[in-house]
Amino acid sequence: MPVKVAEEWLNICGGCEVSILDIGEPLLDLLPELEFVHMPVLMDHKYFGQTGEGTELEIPEADIGIISGGVRNEKEKHVAEEMRKKTNTLIALGSCASFGGIPAMANMWTLEELYDKVYRGSKTTESADTPSENLPPLLDRVYAVDEVVNVDVSIPGCPTNPDLIVEALTCLLEGKPFELPEKSVCDDCPVKREKKADIGQIKRPLESMEFKQGEPWENTRCFMELGYLCLGPVTRSGCARTIDGGVKVPRCVQGYMTCRGCFGPIRKGANPLVDMLGAISSIGLNPREVIDRRALLNRYIGGQKRLRPLPKRPAR
Ligand code: SF4
Ligand code: SF4
Ligand code: SF4
Repeated sequence: MPVKVAEEWLNICGGCEVSILDIGEPLLDLLPELEFVHMPVLMDHKYFGQTGEGTELEIPEADIGIISGGVRNEKEKHVAEEMRKKTNTLIALGSCASFGGIPAMANMWTLEELYDKVYRGSKTTESADTPSENLPPLLDRVYAVDEVVNVDVSIPGCPTNPDLIVEALTCLLEGKPFELPEKSVCDDCPVKREKKADIGQIKRPLESMEFKQGEPWENTRCFMELGYLCLGPVTRSGCARTIDGGVKVPRCVQGYMTCRGCFGPIRKGANPLVDMLGAISSIGLNPREVIDRRALLNRYIGGQKRLRPLPKRPAR
C-alpha cells in the first residue's frame, strides 16, 4: 500500500516545491510508493470542502506531512496545527519552515513599523491603511514551524537540496531515522585553505568574485581567505553535490559564490553570529568590518527568537 503524503505551503516563495520537482528521475522511483492526498500547489483540495460546505478546516489523514514555509499569520498557524493532527511524521522542508527563513528578517521590526514601511509610508505607492478585510491577522512575528507544533524531521536549505528530500523520504519508507550530520559546509568544501587571510580587509558583499575558470578546486583559494564573507564555517553541511571529476562541492561554491548560511546552524543551540565573528578573527580579519552583522549572519534563521526588534535607545 502506498504511503499517504500531505504537503502544505505556508509563508513561502514556492522554491521548496520546485526542489521536489528538481528531484528528477529518482522521483519516478519514489512515486509508486507515495500517494499524495493533499498538496495545494498541485491539486485543488479545499480546506472547507470542495464547495465550501465545511465548517472546520480539514486536511486528510496521512502518514507523512511536509510543510514548507514559516508561520506568519493565524491561518498558517491553524493549517500547521491541522497538519500536525492529521499526519504521523511531520517534515519541515526548507529554511523558512526550519528557521523562519528570509521572511523572518522582518522580525527585526515590530508589526507597526512594518505596516508603516510597507503600507502607510511607502514612497513608491499611494499611502494606504493596513489591509485587514478578508485577510487572516498577522502574528506578532514570523515563527519556524517547530515553534508552533512538534516537527519530526527538518530538511533545511533555501531551497533545499533535492537529494536530501529523496534521502529523507527513503529513510522514512524504510523506517530509519533521518538527520543531517553535525558538520559544516567547510567540511565538504575542497578549496585550498591556509588558515590566514590573503587580504587585510573584508570585501563589500556585492563585490564580484575573481576566479580562474577550470582551475582545480584544490588550487582554488578559500573565498573567506580572499576577503569574501563566506558563512561556510558556521553553516550545517548538506547542500554539497558531487560534480564532474567526482569532487563534492557545496552548492554556492560550485557557482563561485560564498555560502550565505541557508542550511542554518551546525547544531541546535549554536549561535552562528558569535561563531562567525570568531571564525573571521581566527584568520586575521576584523569582524567589525561586516556591515549589518545581525541581519547578514542571521539571514535565514530569524525565527526561534534569533531576530527581535532592538529596544529603542533613549533620545539624547
Ligand atoms: S526556504 Fe527558500 S526556497 Fe524554500 S520557501 Fe523559503 S524562501 Fe522559498
Ligand atoms: S569559508 Fe567558504 S570557501 Fe572557504 S572552505 Fe568554507 S565554504 Fe569553502
Ligand atoms: S553553500 Fe551555503 S548558502 Fe549555498 S546552498 Fe550551501 S548552505 Fe546554502
